[in-house]
Amino acid sequence: MTVRVRFAPSPTGKLHIGNIRTALMNALYAKRNGGVFVLRFEDTDFEREVRGAESQMLDDMAWLGMSPDEGPHKDGGFGPYYTMQRAERGDYKEALEKLFADGRAYECFVTKDELDLMRKIQSSQGKPPHYDNRHRDLTEAEKDAFRAEGRESVIRFKLNEGKIRFDDMVRGTVEFDAANLGGDPVIIRSNGVPIFAFGGAVDDVNQEITHVIRGEDHVTNTAIQVQIFEALGGTVPIFAHMPMLAAEDGSKLSKRLDSFSLQEMRAEGYHPLAILNYIASLGFSDMPKATTVEELAQQVDISKMGRSTVRLDVSQLKKSNAHILHELSYEGAKPFLDAVDAWKRVPEDKKETFWMVVRGNIERFDEIDPLVEICFATDMVSPALEADDKSYIESAVECLPASPYTEATWQEWTGTLKEKTSRKGKALFMPLRLALTGMSHGPELADLMPVIGEELTKKRLQSAVK
Ligand code: GLU
Repeated sequence: MTVRVRFAPSPTGKLHIGNIRTALMNALYAKRNGGVFVLRFEDTDFEREVRGAESQMLDDMAWLGMSPDEGPHKDGGFGPYYTMQRAERGDYKEALEKLFADGRAYECFVTKDELDLMRKIQSSQGKPPHYDNRHRDLTEAEKDAFRAEGRESVIRFKLNEGKIRFDDMVRGTVEFDAANLGGDPVIIRSNGVPIFAFGGAVDDVNQEITHVIRGEDHVTNTAIQVQIFEALGGTVPIFAHMPMLAAEDGSKLSKRLDSFSLQEMRAEGYHPLAILNYIASLGFSDMPKATTVEELAQQVDISKMGRSTVRLDVSQLKKSNAHILHELSYEGAKPFLDAVDAWKRVPEDKKETFWMVVRGNIERFDEIDPLVEICFATDMVSPALEADDKSYIESAVECLPASPYTEATWQEWTGTLKEKTSRKGKALFMPLRLALTGMSHGPELADLMPVIGEELTKKRLQSAVK
């Protein structure tokens, strides 16, 4: 059996940390098991649909390095990959015909007012609100009468009584009583469009989906879908319901999603692998440090995922980014640096050396800004120096080595200065650092000197004693 998993978003917005996680866990599961990762758009919510959302999502997934193996961009023989196109082809009609023939679907004419009243009575009796299945067995004459009244109808799925059990890779065996699922669920709206719990189940059967990995908010839908899968004669997939994500302070994530949109994280200078490593750590105790998506897939075992709500933590995302950046080659970094403004101020012939010197000092690409200043600004304002440091810097100018500047230059220079001035330790290097970079901390001076070069070094030292 080939493992086939799917990511089935509604094209209603951007990729954000919540849906990236669903996509990622599916992508990793497929990779780990030699399977296929399918993308399917559930485009049934016309009012919330956002123009261009699909291509944006595909671009974002490609940027993250987790493009689906199969989807609207790449037909794998299980297309089309849009609910409405599958509806047009007749997929749901065919499934419905089977359900009707087997007595598992029926037309329901209940009005909104009737439903409201039903719920009011139920809650006054202390019962949870549910549809009471009152139109399960309407006669043709009763249906005609409702139609004559001008009532609209929906199609409901007839739930069988009893326990519903399914295996969940995160939650173990999950059990529901069919009586607690809110009554027979609507599967086709009055406008003929399938509800996703039905459409999705039909698609999962037809697309031979073997594993469904998604958020815990779908666990009740799953109970219903298990009966739908069985009624359709399909195989019930194996499920994994991941715990919900919360904002850093424990509040609902939904309100904060914009700041965790992929666009935002991209603009802030996060590397795709850092985002993936961080997201893949949610629900686990350790942060993976994978350098490829393949490696990540080997490190993440969804069956070990915890069950409690996970609070996001930006400091961990930064830490994950630092891991990647500190080891990142110039070639690997270049495309990301090209998107940062300050990078344009780095002279072409210094770009590679500059990156190798600063990468250990930053957590995000946009943090190169002050380091570009340190290395290349010709108008740096020198900090005030103590009187005896001024004479020290004057001697430092006198024994500055000549070009070319290499990794050995600093050693040579401070060696001479040590002998000449008998300064050592902090007294030896701190005034040099201040005069040279304007700051009391930063990358190793030995590394900086070849980047700053003789001319600028001299200029800065001289202006520091002026
Ligand atoms: N379109 C549904 C959603 O985005 C899909 C749920 C599922 O994975 O079946 O929530």
